[in-house]
Amino acid sequence: MIPYARQSIEQEDIDAVCEVLRSDFLTQGPVVTQFESRLTELVEATHAVAFNSATSALHAACLSLGVGPGDSVWTSAISFVASANCALYCGGEVDFVDIEPDTFNMSVSALSDKLALAESAGRLPKVVIPVHMAGQSCDMAGIGVLADRYGFKIIEDASHAVGGRYRNDPIGRCRHSDITVFSFHPVKIITSGEGGMAVTGSEELARRLRLYCSQGVTRDPGQMRRAPEGPWYYEQIALGFNYRMTEIQAALGLSQSNRLEDFIARRNELANRYDHLLADLPLDSPVVRCDRLSAFHLYIIRLRKPAERARVFEALRANGVLANVHYAPIYTQPYYRDLGFEDGLCPVAEAYYHSAISLPLYPAMRNEDQDQVAKQLERALA
Ligand SMILES: *Cc1c(COP(=O)(O)O)cnc(C)c1O
Repeated sequence: MIPYARQSIEQEDIDAVCEVLRSDFLTQGPVVTQFESRLTELVEATHAVAFNSATSALHAACLSLGVGPGDSVWTSAISFVASANCALYCGGEVDFVDIEPDTFNMSVSALSDKLALAESAGRLPKVVIPVHMAGQSCDMAGIGVLADRYGFKIIEDASHAVGGRYRNDPIGRCRHSDITVFSFHPVKIITSGEGGMAVTGSEELARRLRLYCSQGVTRDPGQMRRAPEGPWYYEQIALGFNYRMTEIQAALGLSQSNRLEDFIARRNELANRYDHLLADLPLDSPVVRCDRLSAFHLYIIRLRKPAERARVFEALRANGVLANVHYAPIYTQPYYRDLGFEDGLCPVAEAYYHSAISLPLYPAMRNEDQDQVAKQLERALA
């Protein structure tokens, strides 16, 4: 069996976790802080706040940007449901933007058209959440120009994309956004078991992210309403959550981050091999724009004959190739249907969904495994 994704755990990861287990702190200790500062270095961010998942980080990011009842948040039609759910957690509304057919990322022209319509209807979004699909950055400069013109904030959902680059910056530099969120779920680029991180260039946003992460409680006298009554004193100044990452998770994430560059290099090497192996088959390989380095969380092909997708998929699975599909348009999920979303909202995303297959890709994948995937795919398409 060749899985579609798999974590890479080495002895050094195991040692790092065991060391924490023998230490004084299992949570709220020094390793979370070390992991946060390591990530700021790697992605050239100014501030980083660790969370117990990217979902939690997205929720806190929306709250930090002031999303509440009556506000609208837009995200990409093609993403994991968490990219949209975060707006609903805050009592906001969500809407979806169509994608580019070759990168599967939010289309800047679709966004631009939708914004023009929303402006005349007086319903502009407060926040837009572009998703760096499969590990490749969206056109952040293009989205940034629209943010300046229409006055919305930007959260990059970079759950697929830690280690990727856009122009001269690592994803997470936040040159064109307010906050960037990463996921460390085991299928993603590096893992902490469960875990996520929000990074930002803004000290004020970092302060709010930290508050929402930990019960809305502060021990910083500068943020308190009253004078501290003693060394024990803390104040709750917002309604926060327990979204904290544990020391155990942080130790794994920190250890994994030592190999981030190797992971990205191997994923890109495998993606290039797929490009060559599949070049003559009736499918379209993913396109990476020349000003980007994809983290290649996923290698997504599009079949030229969508009607064959189910059959090809079954044939791959029957022969030990555990392909996957990422994703159906979020608004086609039953929960979103019940909110009133209908087919036809994002036609490019709908066509994408019917033709897409994610092929196995993970750093420990051997070339022979990959040759086997290509062979099975060729047979299935013959
Ligand atoms: C995985 C993922 C998330 C959620 O990440 P968790 O860490 O599992 O909460 C959010 N958005 C996208 C695009 C993802 O792929």
